[in-house]
Amino acid sequence: MAQSNIEWTELTWNPTTGCTKISAGCKFCYAEVMARRLKAMGLDKYRNGFKLAIHEDALDIPFSWSGSKIVFVNSMSDLFHKDVPLDFIKKVFKVMNETPQHTYQVLTKRADLLLQYDKELNWTANIWMGVSIEDEKVKARVDFLRETSAKVKFLSCEPLIGPLKDLDLSNIDWVIVGGESGRKPRPMKAEWVLDIKAQCREHKVAFFFKQWGGTNKKKAGRLLKGKTYDEMPKKKRRPIHQSSNVSMII
Ligand code: SF4
Repeated sequence: MAQSNIEWTELTWNPTTGCTKISAGCKFCYAEVMARRLKAMGLDKYRNGFKLAIHEDALDIPFSWSGSKIVFVNSMSDLFHKDVPLDFIKKVFKVMNETPQHTYQVLTKRADLLLQYDKELNWTANIWMGVSIEDEKVKARVDFLRETSAKVKFLSCEPLIGPLKDLDLSNIDWVIVGGESGRKPRPMKAEWVLDIKAQCREHKVAFFFKQWGGTNKKKAGRLLKGKTYDEMPKKKRRPIHQSSNVSMII
């Protein structure tokens, strides 16, 4: 378990680590950079660096948390990566099913495998399922997500690297938008963000603007036309506790 400084969650939980790149949004994968760093620091969990690894011993962690947490599952991996066995995904779901006091946010770029496994999984209301959509080329991921039995469905449009016109937001509860940060971030145009916000308004979908990104993301901030947008899905139970002082520990 690790506290997170991601604006839309509280904790991260990584029952798998490592991944392989699948689309343009992966170009400057934060998890890859972090995994290499953690390996260099000698963390046993990251001895394989960014190579996909299954961590059976991480499965019990949510049972040890007190209170009710909002948890980003696999910030350092993709649970629906083709090399994660379905049996292990079922184990992760079982833990989430048995800890209904916590809300879990699962995010994938493998929307086709997600739908393929959908009927095998127990979608309790505390599991929010999301797909990443960074540009038009991968827009079809939302159609796979829509077909799943997840009770709360969301899109993470981050890093947004192109316009996303005419998104089909039917049966979608929440959209997060954010720009890329790092040393050579690809720019995000304000008109793309405003267009997604307008689409959310039209379809009554919660809109969360995470950040502009850029080489100095703190300075660029997260105001959109002078306002912050921290909307959450209606089924959410309480506001997210945001701490500016916690580091992203894995
Ligand atoms: S899917 Fe996610 S974790 Fe995997 S390489 Fe792409 S950005 Fe990184």
